[in-house]
Amino acid sequence: MDFLGIWLHAELELLPPAMRSGSPLTQAQEHAASGHSSFPGPAPFLTLHQSAPGAAPTPSTVGSSASHIGRTAPQGTRDPDRARADDFINQYPADSPSPSPPPLNQPPLEQHELGDIKIEYHPRSGRPPQVKPFEEFMRQNALASASAARHEPWAPGFRTRIEFEFADFSLLPPNGVPLCFILYSDKTHLSSFGSQKGYPIMARLANLPSAIRNSNGFGGGQVVGFLPVVEDENEEGKPSFTAHKRVVWHECFWIILEFLAKVGKLGELYKCGDDILRLLFPIILILAADYEEQAVMALIRGLQGVAPCPVCLVPAEEQSVLGMEPLYPLRDAETSQRLVTETANTTNVAREAVLQPLGLRPIQNVFWKIPYCDVYSALSFDRLHAYHSGLFRHHLFDKFQKTVTDMGRATIVQVNKQFDLVPRWRNLDHFAEVAKVTFADGGKYEAISKVLVPATYNIMSQHPDTRGYRLLRCIRKYNILDIHAGLRVYTDERKESHCRALLEYSDVLPDYQEVHPEKNWNFLKAHTHQHVPMDIMEKGITANYNTKIFEKLHQPVKAAYQNRTNFKNIEKQLARIDHEALVADHIRAHIQFLDDELKGNPEDEDEVPTYRFHHIYLGARAKATFSAVEAAGTIFPAFRARLQEYLPYIVPIEAFPAGHWIIQLHPNDTITVCSYLKVDYESKDTWEIQTDRLRCNPRFFGAPRYDCVIFKMDEHDYRFAQLKLLFVFTWQGVRYPMAFVEPYEIIAGRRSEVDCDFGLCRTYKKDKDSEELSYDLHFWLGAETSQDKAGTAAYKTVELDDPSKDLGGKPVQYCEVQGYKSPRFFSYFPHFICLRGGVTSGFHHVSSPPANNTRRLYRISAIQVPGHAAPHLQIREVPANRSSVAQGDVYVLDMGGRVWQFNMRGSKGKVRLKAAEFVQSLVSEREGQCEPTVYDGGGDGAGVFLSELGLDGVPWANEPTARSETTLFHLSDATGDVTFERKGRSLCAQNSAKARLMSTLPLIQPLLPCLGASQRLYM
Ligand SMILES: [Zn+2]
Repeated sequence: MDFLGIWLHAELELLPPAMRSGSPLTQAQEHAASGHSSFPGPAPFLTLHQSAPGAAPTPSTVGSSASHIGRTAPQGTRDPDRARADDFINQYPADSPSPSPPPLNQPPLEQHELGDIKIEYHPRSGRPPQVKPFEEFMRQNALASASAARHEPWAPGFRTRIEFEFADFSLLPPNGVPLCFILYSDKTHLSSFGSQKGYPIMARLANLPSAIRNSNGFGGGQVVGFLPVVEDENEEGKPSFTAHKRVVWHECFWIILEFLAKVGKLGELYKCGDDILRLLFPIILILAADYEEQAVMALIRGLQGVAPCPVCLVPAEEQSVLGMEPLYPLRDAETSQRLVTETANTTNVAREAVLQPLGLRPIQNVFWKIPYCDVYSALSFDRLHAYHSGLFRHHLFDKFQKTVTDMGRATIVQVNKQFDLVPRWRNLDHFAEVAKVTFADGGKYEAISKVLVPATYNIMSQHPDTRGYRLLRCIRKYNILDIHAGLRVYTDERKESHCRALLEYSDVLPDYQEVHPEKNWNFLKAHTHQHVPMDIMEKGITANYNTKIFEKLHQPVKAAYQNRTNFKNIEKQLARIDHEALVADHIRAHIQFLDDELKGNPEDEDEVPTYRFHHIYLGARAKATFSAVEAAGTIFPAFRARLQEYLPYIVPIEAFPAGHWIIQLHPNDTITVCSYLKVDYESKDTWEIQTDRLRCNPRFFGAPRYDCVIFKMDEHDYRFAQLKLLFVFTWQGVRYPMAFVEPYEIIAGRRSEVDCDFGLCRTYKKDKDSEELSYDLHFWLGAETSQDKAGTAAYKTVELDDPSKDLGGKPVQYCEVQGYKSPRFFSYFPHFICLRGGVTSGFHHVSSPPANNTRRLYRISAIQVPGHAAPHLQIREVPANRSSVAQGDVYVLDMGGRVWQFNMRGSKGKVRLKAAEFVQSLVSEREGQCEPTVYDGGGDGAGVFLSELGLDGVPWANEPTARSETTLFHLSDATGDVTFERKGRSLCAQNSAKARLMSTLPLIQPLLPCLGASQRLYM
């Protein structure tokens, strides 16, 4: 369930390898996609939640996690990630609280008692580890960081510069706690008319949980002061005036920081919200700002300087050079402070000689006075301005628009059209005319960047002007970088992959420059992302310092200015208004808390779903008859019949009407159709519970909307599909939530160059009206066939595939050997019965009525076929003696006038059902001349059946025989001569078994001369 979500190009890299490699389609899926109603195999239904509470396990729930969307899967080796997800969801019953997410990269704490917390200190502190009962934790000793995860800004890892600096805090007094500030400042126009600007400084507290801290509500961002806006048209641009502005900025900022500097050394005793008295040591952990503001904070000379980066000393001419780690020395506050101080009383020339190569201004920096603050490492990557409205908007997308314009009117129209065709999705902006977008906010550009590659790659890959294609490759690499920069949980592996992505991005740029040499890529936003992995490792994920969350706070300031000031000396008035708003928020938060307490668990009224099945909710329901659903459109041909076929997979055998093997559905029977699906799932990114809302609605705001999903076929097989119908089927008072999906096929075989370039996993929906048919030729060899018959079968197959005939060259040939038949072959038959015959009596008529002394024994078994959740059933005639009987299967003994069914203990319901159907067919053929009896393994009559076969008890299952070494051969005429080459050992158990048989069967010889010009046989 955790994969439920639309495929955006972006998420692809995070998918498991199984989803990126194509697998050959089975006939079943092709049928499913083309809407064949006569198809006997499993229909493309999903059971949203497979066993109703209290219901007996059904054949399809055996060995599966019941609460997953998707069909059931056999139990086998589980990938640990998946296993954890499964266990996680399984232990999430309807009314229990969410469990806490698993630990990230940290080793589990050594638990002495359940609830004990072990605290370890930095080695330099010399303090031994401590173990505290939970009740005492933080009450006597306040350094809590041992439990902090890396997505919190103060997470220790003790491998980087800032972590080392933090280690000093372990020397704090027992009740000392670092109080980490995130500061932001930027100028903004206070009204859309007029020139009045405000220069607010805002703060957030990194110690608070991120959901509170990054919000705009109580506990979120707060205005803590205003800086003066220094402007003078006549002086603008003069170095002395710029220096004056910087001095004013830093002097004024000191007024705000002075208090922090004072208490930073000794701490401030404060009674916190949990009534615990703590000694708080304020530090400035993060400075969030756009580049212009960062240059002011770092006191560097900006883009004109020789070292324009506020974090490192990259030379201006090498800004587009990227590496796995920062390639240039990092700035450090101590050195800068020393140089500025030392040169303060020297001559201008001497001062410039020292400071100019470092791009430093000869001004004292306010942050140097704050304890534990290194301004350069506090300055953080600004994803909004550096990426979405920077590198992407002004460079990549700008060039894209120009290239499309150069390509002409037809291309513009096509690009717009394909953008418009991108399905609508929650929280994703939709663009009807993307070629025209010229001014939008960063969020809009982010949305464009996400869909640009999948929406236009086919246009660009076919256009003779290769600029578009090459540019798109750069955009794709940028996308991957942006995904990494936006991750909510950052691990060592993700960091490594992020650094690799940086290199890949810088690798594709020269390719674009080749066709567009005049574009200069040497600018700061081509460089700053070099520091993102380091920023994240030191200060947590970028969401902690994205200026986007601060820019939202400008809105209330502007509103206050417009509505509540007299437009004079506004800073004081704004500060007062802001304080009043804070007080109001505080009161409101208390009232809200009280309201919530009284109301219980509040949920958005609009979203209260009508059905709940564990973590799945279905809403917006309406009753509909089968005939109405089938009449609604061509997407549901024979919907009722297909559902009828599928029901035995999910409805427990006890619920079937007595004496019937199917649940007969009538056109006027009803189901409950739902158009809204809400699902709680474990996110692959954060490993936390997240919620997705999906629509399956023919009229969602006037337009049809059928969202796409990724669902799980079995343990390793994930599929893309489109939701076509969500419904609840009710049978004997039990509700079965289901989805009817239209699967997308993955293109099998080698990926095209374009797909490799963009890292795309291309899927397609089979065109129902396609006239081009595909052909499969199977020849089936019984286990006891003779050499000449096997040869004839092969001959005939090749004959049908003769290039001079109608089918020439089109069919794919398959050799099916009894016992090793392919899933594709099975999928053609509702029942597959192997009757005994063999070499000497190959053409005897098995259907003639048997004599009364006949003894035929059939074994009915379920076999698991890869790619199919539901097992295939096989009916096979076996020698009618004791050696044929083993545990777990169902047997039918045909004695002419009597037919006995024997259900072994442990046999599956579906298999029993199938056997009963088979018995029924035998009996009905004999028109009342035959009497059926059913014996159960544990029942009274078991002995009767067993003694008939000469057994006095149920034998144990045979020990599986050791797997013999298997060999894969490759038979080809590609070189002109037929070659038969050993390819090493086969990896796939099923194929290898087949290969083993094939390599020993005598049919190779007669087959060789028949190979046509272009045929290959892989075994
Ligand atoms: Zn740098």
